[in-house]
Amino acid sequence: MPLLNEAESLTELVERIVNVAASQKWTYEIILVDDGSTDSSWSVVKGLSESNPDVHGIRFRRNYGKSAALQCGFEQACGRVVATLDADLQDAPEELPEMAKMITEDGFEVVSGWKKKRKDNAFTKNIPSKLYNFTARKVTGIKIHDMNCGIKVYDGEVVKNIEVYGEMHRYIPYLAKNAGFSRITEKPVAHSKRKFGKSKFGMNRFVNGLLDLMSLSFTSRFSKKPMHFFGFSGILMFLAGFIMTVWIIAAKLIHQSQGIPYRAVTEQPLFYLALLAVVLGTLLFLAGFICELISRNAHDRNHYNIKERF
Ligand code: UDP
Ligand code: MG
Repeated sequence: MPLLNEAESLTELVERIVNVAASQKWTYEIILVDDGSTDSSWSVVKGLSESNPDVHGIRFRRNYGKSAALQCGFEQACGRVVATLDADLQDAPEELPEMAKMITEDGFEVVSGWKKKRKDNAFTKNIPSKLYNFTARKVTGIKIHDMNCGIKVYDGEVVKNIEVYGEMHRYIPYLAKNAGFSRITEKPVAHSKRKFGKSKFGMNRFVNGLLDLMSLSFTSRFSKKPMHFFGFSGILMFLAGFIMTVWIIAAKLIHQSQGIPYRAVTEQPLFYLALLAVVLGTLLFLAGFICELISRNAHDRNHYNIKERF
């Protein structure tokens, strides 16, 4: 669980998780990642782990963001099944047994929560979130309704094979898909109003979220072959510019040879369009070459996720 200034929620949260784990007879560990809290969260975490050796804490020196906290927890986790929850009591630990069963019995690799009856502000969260999820479904091809839900359960393999960075925690199912885990599903979950403290994300989440979605979809398709993207658009541009140029010159020559008066080339709008298209086409090609050089130097250029080998 990533947490930033959630001191009031932690005791109840851990207590409920412990109860669920006990009722299911799970062997478990609870990892609380304190993402640079400035309230008493860390002393609560320490107190909890003193009374229960299955509770572990990781404390960042400063606030790095939810993605960083999740990534750090994923690196530490060693379960066959790994779950994430928000630490603000909005997600119910009582949902975990059902979700875990979908991993262990039904063979899913990612089970994402779906806050079907969402208890947040309609205008600042619920409606924008619907739009955002619609776009995310179209772009990622993953048919789930609540990509950014805090409560998710994973096959342990998944979290070891993805890297959550920046603010990519919104797209973990997409990261999993790109890493080759295709059995992704969702389960409606109970959602509560925030009891203590306030939300850590403002409206800019939607703008940033969309930009991240564009970056992810670009990198997942073209990061190993950027020239296929830039080169293709470059060729189209350049070709358009070239045809316009030939057209302008040919028209001029034909008119001249027949002695018909003709506008100066530089007086024609088409001339400027042709110029623009040729320059843009060249620039796109240059961008493609530079990206190829970068991707050739990427440390993971030959990293493949191998499932089995014998
Ligand atoms: N969080 C975090 N680091 C941050 C922002 C948030 O660890 O920089 C945690 C936060 O404490 C909570 C979870 O991420 O446990 C979800 O945050 P929040 O409840 O503010 O998001 P919302 O429910 O409003 O989407
Ligand atoms: Mg919340």
